[in-house]
Amino acid sequence: MSISRRNFLKASAITAAAAIIGVEPLHKSSVLAAVVQEGVTWHKTVCRLCGVGCGVMLGVKDGKPFGIKGDKENTINKGILCVKGFYLNKMITAKNRLLHPLIRKNGKLVRASWDEAMDLVASKFKEVIEKYGPDALAYYGSGQGQTEETYLANRLFKGYIGTNNVEGNPRLCMASAVGGYTSSFGADEPIGTYADIDHCNLFLIIGSNTAEAHPVLFDRLVQRKKDNPNCKFIFIDPRKTPTNKIVDLHLQVKPGYDLAVMNAIAHQLIKDGNIDEQFIKENVNFSDGKDPITFDDYKRFLEKYTPEYAAEQAGINAADIVKAARMFGESPTAMSMWCMGVNQRVAGVFLNNLIHNIHLLTGKLGKPGCDSFSLTGQPNACGGVREGGALSHLLPGHRAVANEKHREEIAKIWKTSPDKIKPAPGKHTIAMFTAIAKGEIKGLYVLCTNPAQSLPNLNKYRKGMEDCFMVVSEAFHPTQTTELADVVLPVAFWGEKEGVYGCTERRSQHLAKALNPPGEARWDGDVLIDLAKRMGYEKGFSHFTKAEDVWNEYLLTTAGTDMDLTGATYERLKQVRGFTWPVPTTNHNGTWHRFTPEDPLFPKDKAGNRRMYFYAKPDGKAVIFVRPDKGPEEPVSDDYPVALTTGRILEQWHTMTMTGQVPELVRSAPVPYVELNPEDAKAWDVKNKDKVKISTKRGSLIIEAKVIDRTRRGTIFIPWHWPESLTNILTIDAVDPGSFEPEYKVAACKVEKA
Ligand code: SF4
Repeated sequence: MSISRRNFLKASAITAAAAIIGVEPLHKSSVLAAVVQEGVTWHKTVCRLCGVGCGVMLGVKDGKPFGIKGDKENTINKGILCVKGFYLNKMITAKNRLLHPLIRKNGKLVRASWDEAMDLVASKFKEVIEKYGPDALAYYGSGQGQTEETYLANRLFKGYIGTNNVEGNPRLCMASAVGGYTSSFGADEPIGTYADIDHCNLFLIIGSNTAEAHPVLFDRLVQRKKDNPNCKFIFIDPRKTPTNKIVDLHLQVKPGYDLAVMNAIAHQLIKDGNIDEQFIKENVNFSDGKDPITFDDYKRFLEKYTPEYAAEQAGINAADIVKAARMFGESPTAMSMWCMGVNQRVAGVFLNNLIHNIHLLTGKLGKPGCDSFSLTGQPNACGGVREGGALSHLLPGHRAVANEKHREEIAKIWKTSPDKIKPAPGKHTIAMFTAIAKGEIKGLYVLCTNPAQSLPNLNKYRKGMEDCFMVVSEAFHPTQTTELADVVLPVAFWGEKEGVYGCTERRSQHLAKALNPPGEARWDGDVLIDLAKRMGYEKGFSHFTKAEDVWNEYLLTTAGTDMDLTGATYERLKQVRGFTWPVPTTNHNGTWHRFTPEDPLFPKDKAGNRRMYFYAKPDGKAVIFVRPDKGPEEPVSDDYPVALTTGRILEQWHTMTMTGQVPELVRSAPVPYVELNPEDAKAWDVKNKDKVKISTKRGSLIIEAKVIDRTRRGTIFIPWHWPESLTNILTIDAVDPGSFEPEYKVAACKVEKA
């Protein structure tokens, strides 16, 4: 495939971004970096939006945001920003910034003082605990909160209030990736880093529209292909997307039917002898999901998964599966990358395991250019929630509430009684909002997220949020969630507070406070400490006076764990562009490949005779799992004959709370729409911009049609961003039994001309 420079730039989402902001697309960073004026102070920070983790310089003049430019010293983005990141300063000064607390009186949200609002929250929460017990309270946080904020909330709810009903929106996007990494390799998060991209010749992208969802990372992929024309891309996805522009082979599968394809790739790798027997012998166990099995048992399981069988399941060509397996198997290096298309599935953990399986079969792990690398949607889902242990079954430092030793270790650091932390996991997100809908959970604290728009099967959950006593800590108002709240607390936004974010590649980076928050807005951490004190837990929280105090305590929870961050002090983080853990001492500079001799936690007695040692597993071996194919929870039927899938676009992010405030971004994609395949549109007598009614078993939506050759026939796609058109009324809330992550990516629907 020959691609000209012009086409490469066209293929890059950055180009699209640059075009939108009206700058010359070449050397975007220099364009942005050229904005320098006297009297402007540039602060080193990290993008507030997606999980790529781009370095940003925030310019401040006379106490006001002056401008944004990419941080050229940052290894992730080398000065490049996508269009969303470029407009961060307009989000800071958005008209809908909340400036003072609100409480609901006579059905309306009215202005209140901080004292009045906080006294109300503390007294209501105490009343709930007295009447119904601590499990009638819940916390719902975010992969956008800074690690220090999430840590404080986790500490307050699990360690002092005494409920494990602590969840966060990463349950909705990353939980299946956590389940996959933990079961296959013994510990969460990728083995390698972005640096592997620069050594890789074969990329398998599955369930990710990288060009739009992770634009700067996509630019790096484009550069890799430009610098190395032999570099190939395989894409497994139900849609043709801008990512296709660098793709050599696209397997356009039916939504929800790709497990068979991954098993067939494994089948073909073995059949062709494209496996690494020595690596398997040294590093791999086999399991049927319950018991150990042999390699021969696994081969017998794979016999069924011929390319022909998988092609029939997925609606693609068998020859393309064979080709994909040979491209993967014959390349000396390979990276897989995936995102919500894999995770937001009822078989999300299984599909993660199947991706890891082909890397374990071929030994394409733990060396330059090789990794099984999950992409993250939010800037601190990995750092604050996954590493910080802020889900209902976890504790900080990759610990579990069910483990007595872990509870004791954390209780000691939290200065609380080990008995206060319950051994049973709390309610996962869907169970939590179900309990809220049933009136079993009476009080909810929401931090930095918008569940009244982002939960699946929304009609089932919105009323419950309205009825329970809901406190929302938010920088913006109104949102779908603040409108249902009893108390809304105005908090500092990006640039107005200090903290740490941990991005996709295990990198923790410091975010500077460059501005004072507007009006009466306060740092979320300060609000949580205040709440703890008002609820009677003063002794356990009075030693925190600033974000660094919280970070320093958090570091203690990581010491000696597989995600040791001890060396990542604020002092060091302020000087550098982050560290990829483990970084166990203050003279260590971070780790590229985990589980290899360069990893400071690699057992000394294994050095010299093992290329990898999966020390988070009892015998140091990763696991190849037998995972049968499983279709979607709701396959198409006579009544609902069309597959609905949802996702994101370049210019918007999540529920548009932030990007919806930037006129330039809104103008580029002003109205909600549904993508229809041209052949389908013709059969349904629908033309471009016609209104269509999309219905599932859960609700209906009338929306504008965009007739475009992107989805395969029989599949429609809706970007889910717009608050005035709640796509999640249509989506299904069935969850993966291992990760409890909902299947946003596939539902059965019908389409009618409206
Ligand atoms: Fe921000 Fe993601 Fe864009 Fe980078 S790619 S600038 S992290 S939104």
